[in-house]
Amino acid sequence: MAGEAQADCLFCKIVAGEVPATVVRETATTVAFRDINPQAPSHVLVIPKAHYPDAASLAAAEPVIAADVLREAGEIAQEDKVDGTGYRIVFNTGAGAGQTVFHAHAHVLGGRGLNWPPG
Ligand code: C5P
Repeated sequence: MAGEAQADCLFCKIVAGEVPATVVRETATTVAFRDINPQAPSHVLVIPKAHYPDAASLAAAEPVIAADVLREAGEIAQEDKVDGTGYRIVFNTGAGAGQTVFHAHAHVLGGRGLNWPPG
């Protein structure tokens, strides 16, 4: 069924507490944890607890939870004090765009200058 945990999904395992992560925030619908390979001084991933392969499929099926992910991204930027200088919310979608984990996740990056266009 849509949204159900997948046995072979790394981020479902983080949600279940089966794989360790440095969790910074948790709500009824989301978990946020520090990226294991940070690309900026502040680099946090916000994921829905429900399994959807990417942000678009999450938004199509569960728009309220997609909004929860965005709200949490903003809360993290405030907590990490990068909201004043600017931060970026990134949803890599598809292997060609750099997505490596096929469980929807927002990268929240801040604490350094961020170039445009991204690489
Ligand atoms: O957008 P993409 O799918 O490439 O992002 C996956 C992210 O998950 C990577 O930035 C990677 O460093 C992170 N990751 C993590 N903890 C793990 C495995 C991957 O933070 N255990």
